[in-house]
Amino acid sequence: MSHDPNCIFCKIAEGKIPSKKVHEDDEILAFHDIHPWAPVHFLIIPKAHITSMAHVEDSHAALLGKMMALVPKLAKQEGCRPYPEGGFRLVCNTGGDGGQEVPHLHFHVIGGPRPWLKG
Ligand code: 5GP
Ligand code: ZN
Repeated sequence: MSHDPNCIFCKIAEGKIPSKKVHEDDEILAFHDIHPWAPVHFLIIPKAHITSMAHVEDSHAALLGKMMALVPKLAKQEGCRPYPEGGFRLVCNTGGDGGQEVPHLHFHVIGGPRPWLKG
């Protein structure tokens, strides 16, 4: 497994920095975002270092599929209300124009009741 020693999410994947885990298997980790934007906000990352969505190659297809398939399962587990009233946002910021701050591929899953929208 390739890790970047300077990458904060690699350190989280290796357990060198603690995180509130939502899911872990041999290839994938999901954990709560440290600065949540909504009642439910967690990140899904590959344990191996992939810099961004712009760095994804054909060889990553199975891993990306596994990450995607985890989204509805973990969204439900973490308290997102059911579709269609509930649901969630799935966000993958990529590069500078995409607003990516941490250069290790991650999917944001953002959901939960948002009472401020009903104002
Ligand atoms: P980006 O802008 O790269 O898509 O988002 C990076 C996300 O990672 C941000 O929402 C930020 O709050 C989160 N984050 C950054 N550092 C840490 C950390 O050390 N632990 C956790 N749990 N989340 C982090
Ligand atoms: Zn990394």
